[in-house]
Amino acid sequence: ALRGNRGWTPHWRKADPAAHYDVVIIGGGGHGLSTAWHLASQNRGLRIAVLEKGPIGLGNTGRNTTVIRANYLLPSNQRFYEYSLRKWESFEQDLNYNAMVSQRGVLNLWHSDGQRDAHIRRGNTIRLSGGDAELLDAAALRDRYKFLDFDNARFPIKGGLWHGRGGTVRHDAVVWAYARAASELGVDIVENCEVTGFEIEAGRCRAVQTTRGRIAADKTAICVAGSSGRLAAMAGLRLPIESHVLQAFVSEGLKPFIDDVIGFGAGHFYISQSDKGGLVFGGDLDGYNSYAQRGNLPMVRHVCAGAMALMPAIGRARLLRSWGGIMDMTMDGSPIIDRLPVEGMFLNGGWCYGGFKSIPGAGDCFARLIVSGEPRPEIAAFRLDRFHRGHLIDEAGAGPWPN
Ligand code: FAD
Repeated sequence: ALRGNRGWTPHWRKADPAAHYDVVIIGGGGHGLSTAWHLASQNRGLRIAVLEKGPIGLGNTGRNTTVIRANYLLPSNQRFYEYSLRKWESFEQDLNYNAMVSQRGVLNLWHSDGQRDAHIRRGNTIRLSGGDAELLDAAALRDRYKFLDFDNARFPIKGGLWHGRGGTVRHDAVVWAYARAASELGVDIVENCEVTGFEIEAGRCRAVQTTRGRIAADKTAICVAGSSGRLAAMAGLRLPIESHVLQAFVSEGLKPFIDDVIGFGAGHFYISQSDKGGLVFGGDLDGYNSYAQRGNLPMVRHVCAGAMALMPAIGRARLLRSWGGIMDMTMDGSPIIDRLPVEGMFLNGGWCYGGFKSIPGAGDCFARLIVSGEPRPEIAAFRLDRFHRGHLIDEAGAGPWPN
């Protein structure tokens, strides 16, 4: 850096778009790039492009709070997220990249008897499916988390569900790792190339229109998170997805005192501490539909109130930054990975608050779906038509904090 970055090798080739590809992936976030790498590594010779409207990695993948975990209640979600967590465990070796994968553990607190019962049920379900979960009582927690307000008059902490293999991963590094590895395998990563429309003939998608011209594609895969509805509308489709803002926050750097990820059970607040010392925390959606990548003050106040209720010491820390991302919210809180009703088109979206942790697993499964047309068992439940069939996977009603 002191030499002005001279002599540094670019991580990925800055590609210009070709006239035709076997597969065009729209969206250069974690999901688009993971899909591209899995496709290229599993199918040598396939001509693949990732089209990104700006620079890669500046969407939700570069904006999230980096939590990974596999502690879901519903079997179809738990099976998939466990698959993804296992892929995080080999991510750095598979990609030859240090992404600071840190299985520091995730703790979900409970504050009432009803919540205790729900967490016991969740813990048992996770363990029956082969995942890891451990119930901790207040006495065990008191010793370890001296900075939490156990005796809060309104929300005393009564215990927690510990998920030791959960943790955090450096989000930017995930994007860079996949981009470098995909580019090395010949994938064209085309930045500043916005998709503005689709050419559909006789029910089949033949090409995408972009700000850098027409690009023909045998198959087109959409991985654009909060823009899923907009892209689908260009193909004449209406998805059961709404776009909402989710904010996150980081404090000034402090000496290390939070070892893991902690979720408040009585309000919308979860927190971890980054390796730079910043407290990284977040809460709930702003609560209105939006494509803005920044939120509003009422939610800042709401999240900070949750923080103060759980760990009053945070009131002395200064907030350094806050930001927002566009969440692709499905009506049941679970994702969609499926073929679309237009032939040759595929969708990976509807990740709601939690699509960072799914990036390695979803990229693998989506790549295989694009090639074979058939879903792997891990994603078999994430079909688009479940909203017609009534087979919802309502993890929104069952989901714990944090993300
Ligand atoms: P993105 O990273 O958003 O990538 C989509 C890309 O598509 C963008 O780069 C965008 O520019 C591009 N694009 C859009 N339209 C077009 C177009 N027309 N043409 C070309 N390109 C286009 N998940 C977790 O698992 N753990 C967490 O702790 C967590 N915390 C979060 C906290 C916040 C504040 C936010 C906002 C999200 C959080 N998430 C978390 C969710 C997670 O970040 C997302 O689900 C995930 O990153 C989605 O990845 P993606 O690749 O689908 O989307």
